Amino acid sequence: MDLKKLAAALIPDGDLLPIEEYENIYPERERSPKAEVTRLAPSPTGFIHLGNLYSALADERSAHTTGGIFYLRIEDTDEKRKVDGAVESVIRSLKYFGIDFDEGAEIDSPLNKYGPYYQRQRAKIYRAFVKDLIERGYAYPCFCTEDELNAVREEQTATKKTTGYYGEYAKCRNLSEDNIYKNLKEGKPFVIRLKSQGSIENKIPFRDAIKGEVTVTENDQDVVILKSDGIPTYHFAHAIDDHFMRTTLVIRGEEWLSSLPVHLELHKVLGFKPPRYAHTSSLMKMDGGTKRKLSKRKDPELSLDYYRKAGYFPLAVVKYLMTLLNSDFEEWSLKNPDGDYRNFKFRIEKMSRSGALFDLDKLNDVSRTEISKLSAEDCYTFLNGWVEECGTDADKTHFKDKEYIIKILELIMGVGGKKRRKDIERAEQGVRLIDYFFDDTFTPDYSYRFDANTVNAVLDSFIKTYDPADDNSAWFAKVKAIAPLVGFASEMGEYKANPEKYKGNVSDVAEILRIAVTGMSNSPDLCSIMRILGKDRTVARLKAGKR
Ligand code: GLU
Repeated sequence: MDLKKLAAALIPDGDLLPIEEYENIYPERERSPKAEVTRLAPSPTGFIHLGNLYSALADERSAHTTGGIFYLRIEDTDEKRKVDGAVESVIRSLKYFGIDFDEGAEIDSPLNKYGPYYQRQRAKIYRAFVKDLIERGYAYPCFCTEDELNAVREEQTATKKTTGYYGEYAKCRNLSEDNIYKNLKEGKPFVIRLKSQGSIENKIPFRDAIKGEVTVTENDQDVVILKSDGIPTYHFAHAIDDHFMRTTLVIRGEEWLSSLPVHLELHKVLGFKPPRYAHTSSLMKMDGGTKRKLSKRKDPELSLDYYRKAGYFPLAVVKYLMTLLNSDFEEWSLKNPDGDYRNFKFRIEKMSRSGALFDLDKLNDVSRTEISKLSAEDCYTFLNGWVEECGTDADKTHFKDKEYIIKILELIMGVGGKKRRKDIERAEQGVRLIDYFFDDTFTPDYSYRFDANTVNAVLDSFIKTYDPADDNSAWFAKVKAIAPLVGFASEMGEYKANPEKYKGNVSDVAEILRIAVTGMSNSPDLCSIMRILGKDRTVARLKAGKR
């Protein structure tokens, strides 16, 4: 058969470059031998999940701990699944977690020399190589219809044979020249398949960067490499792109491990040296005593939006994922509590072979610790970021008064003091804690434990003597002085010795004041709260708190 003529009939494009040129267009990268070139290659479906972040972190760390490059390639070969704005969403989501690309789709970088980074824009490159494979007898057209393929699959299933397009089942592999041209003339749609040279009798030793030594069975399937719309399949695009984008390490989900033999054969027939592969295990969770994969349908925590909307501290999510990626990160982190996780020696080889167990409680724990370490200024930036995106209009207005918020944060987070507050795991919780410092979100619960006369007497007495210039001890002396006026003990010792003699004690005086001013019976230091609120607001609340 005249394969050149066949290739020209199947791929009639007149503007394809000779394939040798691509080696010059996309030369080897100048890099040190250890520097890894990695990529994130998502489909633009709009759903960016924790697994993507987990993988992106492994990619980013592998590249940046070795002085390499991390780039973004968009695998948009499936037009139907494409969602507008999905690429920006990937970039924005990862940026939120402190992960930046050096190169790639929508990245403004002088390094962008290996593009286009959208697969649909690379159609000419793929088609040039498919044409070459046809000319060399490594690929052929297949005119089988969906129904015919289904019938073959049913037959294979019934006779317990491996399913797929191979050997005796590869009907179009040996189509005569006449039949091919006849089909083309009739305008029958076709795909291009690899003419596999492999045999399942052959086993190939293979070293996966995570799974270690594995043995894979050679491919014998005539997989589709170019679909009927002229766009390649993942398999073919992967081989071409990772070769010409000069990827050194392909980190991808273990669901691709079963197609590895196809990828190895494709690299072989294309004359490429395969990259190193690292197949990551899926993220798992415990569900009623059994371990299962995180699922898009059942687990809202799989979506990255969940963490942004709930206001997780992004660094906490990253640090938690680091503990899942390399189990010795936790130990490193304990030794370097204030260390930048980027200084940890991440290595892909240290990743666990089995599925990492994702535990939201542990993440919450890391988040609480990280938030408790923030300075008031950094805490403001973090909370304000959440407020801008997810807060109410009232939150947005409140956060404009940065100076006021910082004062509140210094107090409620215990910044600078010995006792740092360690119960905030998400921005939203922090933002709700400051609500009572603003009149429009002050929703008091006046549940006093004393009768109205006592309450009113306490509040009136305090208003009379209150001086915002008082320091803590002068302030407390005034609170103490109110106690005997309402039949309370001013000394705790005295009260404990003779509780029957008193209606209450000095801490009950403080509680009444606290409920009036903060609307709650528990709060941080009340004297400081009054100082932050200022005299007018404090007095107004003391008055409004009367029953
Ligand atoms: N587009 C593929 C996916 O989203 C990429 C796999 C790979 O990283 O090679 O699963």
